[in-house]
Amino acid sequence: MNIHPIEQLHIALPDLDWVTEPPRIARLSQDFSWFSPVLKRQLAGKVADAAVRPRSEEEIVRLVSLCAKLRVPITVRGTGTGNYGQAVPLHGGVVMDLSGYNGFLWGRDGAGRAQAGMRLADFENETRTACAIELRCMPSTYRSATLGGLFGGGFGGVGSINYGPLAARGNILGVKAITIEEQPRIIELRGADALAMHHLWGTNGLVLEIELALAPAVPWNEYLVVFDGFDAALDFGNAIANAPGISKREVGFFSAPVAERLKPLAEFLPAGTHAIVLALAPASESAMLELAAQFGGRVTYRKEAAEIARTRRTLLEFTWNHTTLVALKTDPDITYLQCAFTAGQHLEQVRRMETKLAGEVLMHAEFIRNMDGQVTCTSLPLVRFTTEERLQEIIECYRDNGVRVNDPHVFIVEDGKAGGDLPEAAIAAKRRFDPHNLLNPGKVRAWMHGVPQ
Ligand SMILES: Cc1cc2nc3c(=O)[nH]c(=O)nc-3n(C[C@H](O)[C@H](O)[C@H](O)COP(=O)(O)OP(=O)(O)OC[C@H]3O[C@@H](n4cnc5c(N)ncnc54)[C@H](O)[C@@H]3O)c2cc1C
Repeated sequence: MNIHPIEQLHIALPDLDWVTEPPRIARLSQDFSWFSPVLKRQLAGKVADAAVRPRSEEEIVRLVSLCAKLRVPITVRGTGTGNYGQAVPLHGGVVMDLSGYNGFLWGRDGAGRAQAGMRLADFENETRTACAIELRCMPSTYRSATLGGLFGGGFGGVGSINYGPLAARGNILGVKAITIEEQPRIIELRGADALAMHHLWGTNGLVLEIELALAPAVPWNEYLVVFDGFDAALDFGNAIANAPGISKREVGFFSAPVAERLKPLAEFLPAGTHAIVLALAPASESAMLELAAQFGGRVTYRKEAAEIARTRRTLLEFTWNHTTLVALKTDPDITYLQCAFTAGQHLEQVRRMETKLAGEVLMHAEFIRNMDGQVTCTSLPLVRFTTEERLQEIIECYRDNGVRVNDPHVFIVEDGKAGGDLPEAAIAAKRRFDPHNLLNPGKVRAWMHGVPQ
């Protein structure tokens, strides 16, 4: 009698925590790709055949071994906050929810290590307690997102104004990964070798543990500074971002139409004003106030770290792609882009794009340091969505004006931030760690028709 491979998995591994209710399997097959009307359409109905929540390395090894033997696809998942359908299984198989594999391993000497399913906020609590160090950069989803998800699908975010994106040399110290084979091998990759698996959406390695360089912990205060003019707000943000003596973790810019859509902050964002959102060290407050006065800004919101911790209300959850999430609650017809401006030309480019597409693309920018350490802006502007064709025209308009767009409306790895063919190192890692192409097959174009020769 022929037994379906999924049933064989259930029979052979009865002690694992299998999710059996179809609605829960369907939920675990989704992420936040619904931000994109294009992906929403393209990924509708993509569901795994089974979902499982391993809690130890030994369970993961047994699961991987049998999946490899039965040639069952595996989609790795943290908590599913990714935006490009990264954790959506394209060809069924098993969704492996790693959020229960979440042990803290150690924090010391400016570094920390944990199992991949640990949530970023929990990890940071541990490292702050162990030795007063915190994440160098983190997404605005840090409360729910996992280390593995940040490594596999994230870019950076809060803190990138100091340390650049996660991919900047020195941020990722190492990962321990497992090969998807009948006899799985567990391999430690250090430094640049580990980067071969970064932001490849779980398609070229299943990561078990992650080791990151960390930053000295600071009790960050949060502020909103508002301006009557677009340019004044942008220039103030740039001045703060560039001021070496002002210790900061976040510098974000909301143009007035974006600010208007952040309804929970309405009392602090007067109509028609453009805002800069800041997280600063307490000692930097007076220098910031001097600059705010110089640029004609006024502080409408100020909270100290202790109060933020007590109330658990943070402005960080209005920054980065949370801006889109909050805006979507009142304006369901919007979507967004992800753009990287050129350091040195970033202010001029932001202004030019604002002028060209005003009313249709609503400017939201985040100041960061780029891979070379220069201050620039990355942008997650809100887009009033009309048609997929128009969305594509807007993307082309940005590109024609010299702005890089990491298209968030695609689900193939090569079409996203990778921006074309994958680097040799990523391809070599895929060959080594996923020889049977079982990690969410269909996401890597080069492997679309099986393992390339
Ligand atoms: C409101 C909102 C705001 C956001 N803000 C930011 C932001 O500021 N910066 C940013 O970078 N991103 C942001 N994101 C995207 C996302 O939240 C982050 O990238 C987050 O780190 C993903 O973590 P996760 O645990 O949810 O990962 P998931 O969505 O579960 O997974 C993401 C990808 O990583 C892979 N993966 C997960 N675990 C592993 C593993 N152990 N081994 C190998 N691959 C693995 C998955 O297969 C998937 O491809 C935002 C998303 C939303 C919805």
